[in-house]
Amino acid sequence: MSEVLLEVRNIKKHFPIRSGLLQKVSGYVKAVDGVSFSMKRRETLGLVGESGCGKSTTGRVVLRLLSATSGEVLFRGRNLLAISGEELRRARREFQMIFQDPFASLDPRMTVAQIVGEPLAAHRLLSSGKERKERVAGILEDVGLDAAVLNRYAFEFSGGQRQRIGIARALVLNPSLVVADEPVSALDVSIQAQVINLLAELREKLDLTYLFIAHDLSVVKHISDRVAVMYLGRIVEMARTDELFANPLHPYTQALLSAAPVPMPGKKGKRLILGGDVPSPLNPPSGCPFHPRCFRAIQRCRSDAPESCEREGHFVVCHLYS
Ligand code: SF4
Repeated sequence: MSEVLLEVRNIKKHFPIRSGLLQKVSGYVKAVDGVSFSMKRRETLGLVGESGCGKSTTGRVVLRLLSATSGEVLFRGRNLLAISGEELRRARREFQMIFQDPFASLDPRMTVAQIVGEPLAAHRLLSSGKERKERVAGILEDVGLDAAVLNRYAFEFSGGQRQRIGIARALVLNPSLVVADEPVSALDVSIQAQVINLLAELREKLDLTYLFIAHDLSVVKHISDRVAVMYLGRIVEMARTDELFANPLHPYTQALLSAAPVPMPGKKGKRLILGGDVPSPLNPPSGCPFHPRCFRAIQRCRSDAPESCEREGHFVVCHLYS
């Protein structure tokens, strides 16, 4: 696991807010505000944070489903944000997305064969119907579905089976990088572990690299090699999964871990309650953006933005460690 597949450099996504009769830009929502990380081939990076922290927007910018305000996304050394047209279309085969809601993301009027085979048709791959059918049947088998389901419709399946169909559709082009955006949060708890185990098996079998987005640390724990914690559009802590769970440094990570629903090595003592909601990214707090909710805030946290510090691959953005 040594080759760097993806390098994300200081990406920003600022959405303009327009107001008044002339719809003039009156401000910006800084949904992603300077995110950097790199991923090695076959690595899984868990990206975690509360709703609205910018994790899904980050995933969409990386896959060029949203344009970036600035920054670079180097995929095998090539900046995806600087390509367009046919070059981008060809590059898209290499990176795919698994969506959160298998009920909303699959067209109920299409058969499984049409849903899973559509990306092959869109990219004009495997022109013969027989070849396409064999490829679709093969990837369905990989996700644990029998080829007998080919002519059935998505609405006929349970949530877990629909997510398997969604995974098959994402993988049919044989991508290298997959962004899985909350892939189990719409599923029953009893099904979640099955789908996470399936994704882990497919990573080994198909040589995949995952950016695994979730709001719940316990979901990313079992599949991620490293975990990055996001708050208000920025990564505030990133480390190897075992290190992060055993030794969480950032007060926000400590609070998330203390609230996690399952026993964890890093979960010591009483639950840490975070006051208030995530502030608006339209008008983030001064200094450390976490200071209004932080139970360890000191005077300078209100005025000075903390820098990132790193010790043996464990990154944290907090004055307590600088
Ligand atoms: Fe809390 Fe200050 Fe650290 Fe921010 S910099 S997380 S407010 S202690």
